[in-house]
Amino acid sequence: MCIFCEIAKKSVPSQAVFENDTIFAFRDINPQAPVHILVIPKTHIASVDAITAENSKVVAEIFEAIPKIAANAGLANGYRVISNCGADACQSVKHLHFHILGGKQLSETMA
Ligand code: AMP
Ligand code: ZN
Repeated sequence: MCIFCEIAKKSVPSQAVFENDTIFAFRDINPQAPVHILVIPKTHIASVDAITAENSKVVAEIFEAIPKIAANAGLANGYRVISNCGADACQSVKHLHFHILGGKQLSETMA
């Protein structure tokens, strides 16, 4: 089972910030900004490339949750949402996740 599936099942500990039946959100272990949260579906989807009409409802649910998670984290001045997909994007964990980054003025460049 992949590491983020284990985190969603709580067999691997994490600093959870939000959870419901379908979604889990937790602090990134190696933060790239003062606030760095990962939002994942509890079901295993490998990446953005693996989103389909059959599994995309949870993606909508993630994006409905993100503003609430960001507000709870104090990101009233804005934040960035990123999903790395595949080798060129340096995706290191092959379970769909959305990074929420904020808490400082972020770079104008994304790549
Ligand atoms: P990516 O490179 O987009 O696949 O991002 C994977 C992210 O997962 C990285 O920012 C890692 O720091 C983070 N990460 C890996 N393992 C853990 C873990 N056990 N708990 C929290 N974050 C993790
Ligand atoms: Zn997984």
